[in-house]
Amino acid sequence: MEADRVAVVGGGIFGSTVAVELSRMGCSVVLFERASTLLSSASRANQRRLHRGYHYPRGMDTVAAVMRAFGAFKAEYGAAIHHGSAHYVAIARRNSLVSAERYLAFCDGVGLPYREEYPPFLRRSAVELSVRISEAHIDVDELRRLCAAKLAASGVEVRLGTRADRRSLRGFDQVVLATYSAINDTHPGPVSAMPEYQFEVCEKPLVELPPMYLGHSLVVMDGPFMCLDQVAGTRNFLLGNVDHAIHATTVGPYPLVPGPLMRYVNSGLIRRPTVTRFPAFQRFAHEFVTGFGEAHHLGSYFTVRAVLPHVEITDDRPTLVRRLDERTVALFGGKIATCVASARQVAGLLREDPVPATRGR
Ligand SMILES: Cc1cc2nc3c(=O)[nH]c(=O)nc-3n(C[C@H](O)[C@H](O)[C@H](O)COP(=O)(O)OP(=O)(O)OC[C@H]3O[C@@H](n4cnc5c(N)ncnc54)[C@H](O)[C@@H]3O)c2cc1C
Repeated sequence: MEADRVAVVGGGIFGSTVAVELSRMGCSVVLFERASTLLSSASRANQRRLHRGYHYPRGMDTVAAVMRAFGAFKAEYGAAIHHGSAHYVAIARRNSLVSAERYLAFCDGVGLPYREEYPPFLRRSAVELSVRISEAHIDVDELRRLCAAKLAASGVEVRLGTRADRRSLRGFDQVVLATYSAINDTHPGPVSAMPEYQFEVCEKPLVELPPMYLGHSLVVMDGPFMCLDQVAGTRNFLLGNVDHAIHATTVGPYPLVPGPLMRYVNSGLIRRPTVTRFPAFQRFAHEFVTGFGEAHHLGSYFTVRAVLPHVEITDDRPTLVRRLDERTVALFGGKIATCVASARQVAGLLREDPVPATRGR
């Protein structure tokens, strides 16, 4: 019997992983990626944290999902897990959506280990508590190398620099869309059938910080706060800020990217962006950390984040596998740790239910 021909659209971490999984299952797989390299969009321009649950004290579904998925990620991509930083979570004294007491009760409740400890640059007067936690970073360059090697070893045909459209997807028995913020671009139905997302055009500054920061990563929570994460194998840090990182937000089927940022989005590190929120990141950070006036801005990554709309209360980041029609499945990636588990879910769906007779959108 001939193998199912499957097209996977999107060569980020989710598309690359599901392509390998389907090929191992015996499908004949073509992976389409419109950029010239794998993992060049959100899978590169993110905060690089391998989430274990610590960041989602209000989102129990996200915590459960990353906890369940961690073992499978580690088994497949363990070489890309980087343990070079001591990780801290600090609870802001003012305006936090979680108190220190509630945060510790959350960690105890879900079994996340911690110990009270303060990084040398943290302003203790600005936080109620700081704990050192057991988390790691993702080495994106290593992750990309692993993906490329696994795709080659499993016989996936990778078409880089190739945008898939409805026409190029004809002739495949099954199509898996793993296009994240472009998830509706190749949706098989009319606009009215497309799920809505909240799209956020995000900036991620890359900086050099004073030596006392080296070997430390910090998130201040919970709510409109900040984080800094040392990039695996370098002396540089990526900055996050829940408010200032976002240049534009839209809710609907497609993102709207402001004109001046179009050429920056998913284009790697932009060394001297004409539009940047870095000064706002820096001003904000002063409240919580010392020495930030010496931060040297090396450039910024820009990308579009896609999240479910109206999840402000829980801040949940689910990974969703949805069948859109009899030959199209959408795989929407929430947190990177879930990529292997959700690829297996897609494989299970295609194996058990290759061509469902009727299925709602
Ligand atoms: C600012 C930010 C910070 C984040 N921080 C973290 C974090 O610290 N830890 C974590 O776990 N998660 C984080 N996330 C979430 C995480 O980055 C995403 O869940 C994950 O990268 C999604 O992977 P993906 O493969 O689905 O998407 P992507 O990496 O965006 O890949 C989709 C690919 O599809 C391609 N594509 C689109 N349309 C087509 C087409 N028609 N034809 C061919 N190719 C197409 C695109 O070029 C792209 O390469 C963050 C996200 C953002 C935006």
